[in-house]
Amino acid sequence: MALIFCPECGTKVSEFASTCLNCSYPINKLKANSFSETKTKVKVENTIVWLLAFSPLIGELLQCLIAGCVYGDFWEMHYDKFWPVTIILNIILCNIDENKLKNQGVETEEFGSTWLVPVYLFRRAKFLGHDQAYFWVWIVLFTLDFFSLL
Ligand SMILES: [Zn+2]
Repeated sequence: MALIFCPECGTKVSEFASTCLNCSYPINKLKANSFSETKTKVKVENTIVWLLAFSPLIGELLQCLIAGCVYGDFWEMHYDKFWPVTIILNIILCNIDENKLKNQGVETEEFGSTWLVPVYLFRRAKFLGHDQAYFWVWIVLFTLDFFSLL
C-alpha cells in the first residue's frame, strides 16, 4: 500500500483513502483530477522547446562567433573545433525546458534523459499531445549540421 502526502496538511495518508484523516481533505478527488490535469489543463510554454529545436543552428552560429573571437576571423572556419558548444547549448536548453515543465506538475521522468535531446523532444511531444514539429526541426537541422562536418 503506497502512502502519499496530503496536499493540505502534509500528513501521510493511504493512496486509497477517500479523505485525509487529519484535515479531511478529499484525497480521491485529487487523484481523479491529477491525471487528466497534466494532459489537458497544463498550458505548456513552448518558447524554450523551439529554441531547443533550432539549437543545432544556434549552436553553429555560436561556434562561428567563438571561433571569430579566438582566431580573429569569422570566415576562417575554425568553428568545428568548438562543437561542444552546440552540445552544451542543447543540454542546457533541454534542462531549462524540463524544469519549467516540472514546475507545472508534468512528470518529465517519462521523457528520458535530457542528454538524449531527440528522444526527449519526441516523448515530450507525444506525452503533451503536440505534433512532432519541434522534434523534426531538430532532426533536420542536426543532420544538416552533421553532414556539413564531413
Ligand atoms: Zn490533510
